Amino acid sequence: MIDGIVFDLDGTIYLGDEALPGAVATLAELRRRGKRICFVSNKPLETRAAYAAKLTRLGIPTPATEVITSAHVLGRHLARHWPHLAYYLIGEDKLRAELRSHGLHLVGEQSDQDEKGVIDPAGVDAVIVAFDRTLGYRKLNTAYQALRRGARFFATNADKTCPLPGGDIPDAGATLAALEHLTGRQVELVAGKPSPLITAYALELLGLPPERCLMVGDRLETDIRMGQTAGMRTAVVLTGVTQRAEAEQMAPAPDYILDQLNDLLVEDSVR
Ligand SMILES: [Mg+2]
Repeated sequence: MIDGIVFDLDGTIYLGDEALPGAVATLAELRRRGKRICFVSNKPLETRAAYAAKLTRLGIPTPATEVITSAHVLGRHLARHWPHLAYYLIGEDKLRAELRSHGLHLVGEQSDQDEKGVIDPAGVDAVIVAFDRTLGYRKLNTAYQALRRGARFFATNADKTCPLPGGDIPDAGATLAALEHLTGRQVELVAGKPSPLITAYALELLGLPPERCLMVGDRLETDIRMGQTAGMRTAVVLTGVTQRAEAEQMAPAPDYILDQLNDLLVEDSVR
């Protein structure tokens, strides 16, 4: 019996600003059946409250406490384990604010820069890589110089691209690959799916053992892999990036392959 369900957002619940077919009714019915629910996103672009507000606006009333983002998970983890490091962020302003809300010190303020606006990489203890649409040569070089000097190496997520209604765009994974290639080093810790860090957070939030939980998502290598690794049951929904043939070829296969989210409601395990 499934008592807790973890949902991916993009390509699973909505695409752009539209709820996907069946999503609103499915969530309402699962809540009526008393299922515990949470939402997990690798996107570090918005706060948990912003994603909760979006879901609520689309007809899926959701409190911020039911939303887990890679940014929140990373911020919480770094604050617990390495609260006193000086972090250099490749990422956008909202992520900067999120990390600061966990008490982390981010270099890059005026006081950290010389008269040309350059940050001294010797003052950086750790580099955080995330989705960043303002990425330029200076940021890449600062991160490279810091990593070369031995700075710790973290990332919110490792997705190569980010899906948008008009086609996907480069995500944190692309920047990570560049820095790994440059330095010959590997990122030490990635907070987002399919990392054990974000899975543990989801299970903690649901308060259930993995065998009573189901992971639902549209991406095999993140959502489904995360569920499988944790010992959860898995359902891939074909409203996002995955085609049926790819889902059928995956080994081990997802437990359920759904054309639309509402196909989940007929499965015995979620009754
Ligand atoms: Mg997705």
